[in-house]
Amino acid sequence: MTEYHVCSSCSVVLVNADDSGVDPDDLNVVTATIEAMGLVAHAGTYDHWGYWTCEVCGWDQLGESNVFESVA
Ligand SMILES: [Zn+2]
Repeated sequence: MTEYHVCSSCSVVLVNADDSGVDPDDLNVVTATIEAMGLVAHAGTYDHWGYWTCEVCGWDQLGESNVFESVA
């Protein structure tokens, strides 16, 4: 099973297919990454206590991530 750590704005895209919170400059990357991830399910949150990189948009984030797991 693959786990993805995802920032809050990318999580909204994953859960609600709502990309209005994503910077237009990042939209191509975000859309392509989510397509490549396939079907995922929200598996909770994880506190990194520091910086981490969103696996969807690739931006550095601080604090808590949303964790998604592949459903396959
Ligand atoms: Zn992100």
